[in-house]
Amino acid sequence: MSNTAGGAVIEERRADAGQANGERPLVEVRDLKRYFDVGRGAVLKAVDGVSFQIRRGEVLGLVGESGCGKSTVGRTIIRLYEPTGGTVLFDGQDVHKLSGPDLMRFRRRAQMIFQDPYASLNPRMLVSEIIGEALDLHGLYESRKERTERIHELLNLVGLNREHANRFPHEFSGGQRQRIGIARALAVKPEFIIADEPISALDVSIQAQIVNLMTDLQEKFGLTYIFIAHDLSMVKHISDRVAVMYLGKIMELAESDELYQHPQHPYTQALLSAVPIPDPRVERTRERIVLKGDVPSPLNPPQGCPFNTRCPLAEKICFEARPELQEVAPGHWVACHLVSPNGAA
Ligand code: SF4
Repeated sequence: MSNTAGGAVIEERRADAGQANGERPLVEVRDLKRYFDVGRGAVLKAVDGVSFQIRRGEVLGLVGESGCGKSTVGRTIIRLYEPTGGTVLFDGQDVHKLSGPDLMRFRRRAQMIFQDPYASLNPRMLVSEIIGEALDLHGLYESRKERTERIHELLNLVGLNREHANRFPHEFSGGQRQRIGIARALAVKPEFIIADEPISALDVSIQAQIVNLMTDLQEKFGLTYIFIAHDLSMVKHISDRVAVMYLGKIMELAESDELYQHPQHPYTQALLSAVPIPDPRVERTRERIVLKGDVPSPLNPPQGCPFNTRCPLAEKICFEARPELQEVAPGHWVACHLVSPNGAA
């Protein structure tokens, strides 16, 4: 069974679980592929058979190094890209087949927050215009007064105030600009937000503030998130489950606590070994797994396991066959030849 097929099993199993408690997943990603033609017959397989589901009110962390395809997954789900293959269902509807009022409704229900808040905010627009534009587009007010009040309310929600409405993006710090981006996303009262590396461009001291804000908003409004990051430490406190991607595929997917306490895939183990531990005694004595080399080009991925060029445990079979994503413990999925279904490596 291929990695993709393993993903299909996830879908079936989770769909069953969803029916058992009468709840349909909000987002279902099925065998999603997004390839880019980069000329001269070369094809970049940015996302190559990814499947997962997200329950309502759940936060899924999507983690991996640059170029692993995590942002492309987010952008394809939200319809910034058309998929090369596979489907994305949002509340049971195929996102890429929506048109007219259904598409408008999807655009209101699903929003995106971008990595670089400065680049994603029009520098010539006042904050009130940036947030008001979203309200205008979806006709979400009855009067000018209500529109202004809503803008002020949104600024308060993200820790800014009404005086900030009449300023331009360049007058704010990076953290404040990200707060404006969050306010803009919240303006249309979405149910689902894809946060594409929302804290990667910020100072470490500011990162926790933005994660805390997003957690508060998630609890307050019952939001569902995909939280994309390149570092496992960034998603630890916000995610219910975490998926680790490498070269366009999911390598490991598990409940957050399970993944951090019992990582099974060698790649996840290496990523976690690089996360600093606050206790200096533990930090001094623990072993770091240093990966050799860089991530191979997605234009020319390795045969067999995508991780075989850097894996300290690689064996002959790793160069011959691609490992399937299989469930090694309840809700814990791993794509590695050396990890058996009982979880033993
Ligand atoms: Fe490493 Fe082989 Fe497992 Fe891939 S399948 S992660 S190369 S041990």
